[in-house]
Amino acid sequence: MSFAGYAAPPLDVSGEEIRLADFPVGYFVDNEQSLDYETARNHAFEPANSTATLGTGASVTWHRIELHNPGLEARALFLHMPAAYQVRAIDIYEERSQGLVGRATVNLNDASDNPLMYRGTIVYPFSVPAGETTVFYIRSHLYSHQWFAAEIYDDKNSRKALVGGHLDIALLVGMMMALVFYNGLLYFATSKKENILYSLYLISGVIWIALSYGLLAKAFNVYGDAVFILNLSVFTMPIFLVLFMMVIFETRGFYVTEHRILKGLLVLLVAGFCYGLFDIEGALIPASTLAALMMVVTFSVSLSILRKGHPLAKFFLVGHSFFVVFNGLAVLFYKGLIEPNYLNSRGVGIGIVLEAITLAFIISYRIKVLEDIRAQQDELKRQAATDPLTQLYNRRFFMTEGECLVQQARTTGEQVSVIALDIDHFKAVNDTYGHHAGDLVLKDMAGIFQKFSRDRDLVARFGGEEFMILLPGADHVEAEGCAERIRQGVEKHVVEVGNGVSIRITVSMGVAQVNSAAESVEDATERADKALYEAKAGGRNRVCSAA
Ligand code: GH3
Ligand code: MG
Ligand code: MG
Repeated sequence: MSFAGYAAPPLDVSGEEIRLADFPVGYFVDNEQSLDYETARNHAFEPANSTATLGTGASVTWHRIELHNPGLEARALFLHMPAAYQVRAIDIYEERSQGLVGRATVNLNDASDNPLMYRGTIVYPFSVPAGETTVFYIRSHLYSHQWFAAEIYDDKNSRKALVGGHLDIALLVGMMMALVFYNGLLYFATSKKENILYSLYLISGVIWIALSYGLLAKAFNVYGDAVFILNLSVFTMPIFLVLFMMVIFETRGFYVTEHRILKGLLVLLVAGFCYGLFDIEGALIPASTLAALMMVVTFSVSLSILRKGHPLAKFFLVGHSFFVVFNGLAVLFYKGLIEPNYLNSRGVGIGIVLEAITLAFIISYRIKVLEDIRAQQDELKRQAATDPLTQLYNRRFFMTEGECLVQQARTTGEQVSVIALDIDHFKAVNDTYGHHAGDLVLKDMAGIFQKFSRDRDLVARFGGEEFMILLPGADHVEAEGCAERIRQGVEKHVVEVGNGVSIRITVSMGVAQVNSAAESVEDATERADKALYEAKAGGRNRVCSAA
């Protein structure tokens, strides 16, 4: 039989164990996509490896594998094509000295019931008689830039090869699914857009990984056009990543130039996606280039945001560096520019997972940042509502909160009362023992007022040595009772003002029940103040009620 061009050295298949997964083969790209077996076998072949990437130009390829059995017995063997799930159709021509002895066609669109297709791998059984040579011509019709892989096994190794593998991919997919569920839960808890965008990004990544690394084929026995369309995830993944960036960095508000650049990229990606809906093979041709562009843009944008001092940018850059490095390797691999190996053929998957883990960190970090801001706001609110010396509420808070409580009481029919309090002869305390002693007295009094009022009462320092208590659910009788308890409590209390000096203090109080139907809190406090004035005039250390 005549043969032109390169012929890889024949593989010796007489050994005890046959496990050939990395050997030289011959190949050529059938640019016209029209050659039949007779013409193809006389075509000039070029050297290649049994596992090789073919770039985007290789739509139909022919491979030639030559096996020789110098032994004395026939060998029963299996030709495996573990990357078969990637292709559209494969034709296998088995040739011996006497001519064509075997022929098989696997069309991936109906491969699910093809006996040669086992979970994404084509398994073609054949045998090489003693002293004979077998040559395979394999025609692969590819969807787009995919890789070719052929392996030769004996029975035992064939079964081993079919059982093993894909554990790593299953692990990647499992990790990502866990992150998807976690972020879905976070989204329901917080309604933050970034969680849903991140989940969608991960789902796209999972689909792409499961699809292109054969997990879908292996797990569900699905191939062909219907599955190939899932390659659209190659567009949705970066689309959601860019949207995620826009949200976490709040680019629309703070980084206008970067926002515009990301928007431009988004337009390209969405255009690619829309095109892919109608012609996914066509859309995938520039996909590697688009991926490279996308990495350059997103990397530069995050670098620029880092320079401008965004606290999350450095974490994003770390995660994105993983993505860029591994995807960069993968792009070189898909374009057929470098020899395939584990890292570059799995590059996209590894890059996505490493990035996903970092992004998950960013999400939790952002939750912490937002929590810190909320805590700060709460603290500011608290400070704005309280008096720093006594930690009681201040007049402003008392008035607004008191008005709310009175309005509530108006609807529930509850009574509300107020007590105005003023320390007796406080000026004398300051004058005799100093301002510091006066402050100690104020703090002690605040403690006593709180101790003798209920939890739901609003105790406030109105200014100086004047205080006000609002008692929801208390009429004037109850309020007078409370005021009397406070009066006695203060009377009994001894204030230590330092240097072993202790003093006794009294307070005067005015009580008023809020006429909630017609009166504001302010009116009621004025009436309580008037009653307080009466208590002072009546000799201090006493409680007076407003009319
Ligand atoms: P009365 O029995 O009539 O209420 O007499 P009084 O001395 O308590 O009343 P007056 O209004 O004359 O004096 C109030 C004093 O309270 C004057 C002021 O120096 C003092 N004071 C106001 N705010 C503070 C404060 O924050 N700390 C201290 N130590 N003293 C204060
Ligand atoms: Mg006073
Ligand atoms: Mg006073």
